[in-house]
Amino acid sequence: MAQAMEKTGELMLDGKTFYIHTFGCQMNVNDSEHLASLLLAAGARPARNPEDSDFILVNTCAVREKSVEKLFSYLGRLKDQKERRGSVLACLGCVAQLYREKLLKKFPYLDLVAGPHQYAEVPLILKNLQEERRVLTAWEKDWTDLPIVPEARESRVSAYVTIMEGCNNFCTFCVVPYVRGREKYRPLRSILEEVRSLSDRGYLEVQLLGQNVNSYRDPETGAGLPELLARVAEISGIEWIRFITSHPRDFGPELIEAMASIRKVCHQLHLPLQSGSDRILEMMNRKYTRADYLEKIDRLKSRLPDISLSTDIIVGFPTETEEDFEQTMDLLERIRFANIFSFRYSPRPRTAASRLKDDVPEEVKIDRLVRLQTRQKEIQLELNRSLVGRTVRVLCLGASKKGNLYAGRNEGYQVVNFRSEKDVSNRMVRVRITGCGPYSLHGELADEPA
Ligand code: SF4
Repeated sequence: MAQAMEKTGELMLDGKTFYIHTFGCQMNVNDSEHLASLLLAAGARPARNPEDSDFILVNTCAVREKSVEKLFSYLGRLKDQKERRGSVLACLGCVAQLYREKLLKKFPYLDLVAGPHQYAEVPLILKNLQEERRVLTAWEKDWTDLPIVPEARESRVSAYVTIMEGCNNFCTFCVVPYVRGREKYRPLRSILEEVRSLSDRGYLEVQLLGQNVNSYRDPETGAGLPELLARVAEISGIEWIRFITSHPRDFGPELIEAMASIRKVCHQLHLPLQSGSDRILEMMNRKYTRADYLEKIDRLKSRLPDISLSTDIIVGFPTETEEDFEQTMDLLERIRFANIFSFRYSPRPRTAASRLKDDVPEEVKIDRLVRLQTRQKEIQLELNRSLVGRTVRVLCLGASKKGNLYAGRNEGYQVVNFRSEKDVSNRMVRVRITGCGPYSLHGELADEPA
């Protein structure tokens, strides 16, 4: 951390303004927070929009083809803004790592292309960019702590804390190992230090992040995720702890016990299923079967009956038949997820699956996705209705623009919109649930301590 601060400590970007646009997952949001911290420490100020910025930084996601398409169209739209003001335009993160040459060719006005392991160098490079454009996509093998300052956090009450990065699993559809590199783990003491400072500043929730958090190992002591959760829970002030993303193969009884016995660990889990068909799971190199997955879910539900589950599902993987898809639908019925993130398969460069024929017709993929999402919407509505009439704890994340309406999330990570006569932003409150839709709950502030 000291090294990164040293580079930026001389206010080398004093008087300059920056704007960061983030595509993708929580890891990318957290990376952008780190980047904003580095720029603030170097003396730059955040701008409200790209038009007012000396540095326009786009942090990118390569996991789905659709998000790459969105990025390309966004970079196209930035050309005029960049030229009008003479701003520096940088493309950072996973797409920069994966599509370096393509980006440089398609967007010759890009000044900087840098992969996810180069954020620490960005302020210095921005300072020196006047002369030549730069491309940086090397991988770092070891963990580097980057500073994060309070003003750079998106929320005042819930914080992302990265605990590991990269992945060694090589699921055949996934580009992550090629853009984020192999797994590297952040030392436990550094994680605890960050969570303590968050607690000192009044944060109530931490979300521990990594592409594959179940394989977390403290490089100094060998402690795994269950021990990390226990240590984070010892920090007073922190009320809720979440972790994402888990891999079903590595999600074991020890972690279930930790979730059941550590009061602060939320009874909520995102466990990507991807497919309910053993044949497809094998082709995806997921290293578990539907029976393994179900067995873990049964064990989890028997230990934590109120667990709120979410998952990722891909439809239309190469060779997927109607029968394979029905197997996925069957698991949807049995498990009853509170939420799913579902996608049509699209081949990603360099992955093993991209060498297979993408043979499920687009209209079949769309039909399966619609059927999956339609049934899931009904399940969500049924689950949400079962909460109506109850009073639940909600972490209020802010007020909506409309009068006395507030929004937050409950322990199951469902969105809760509620009415309150007093300002309860950034506080833990109790809300009486009075109604719901498939995607959110609504209610009123309950007059009882949180
Ligand atoms: S475990 Fe997750 S991040 Fe790793 S390769 Fe598989 S899908 Fe990608």
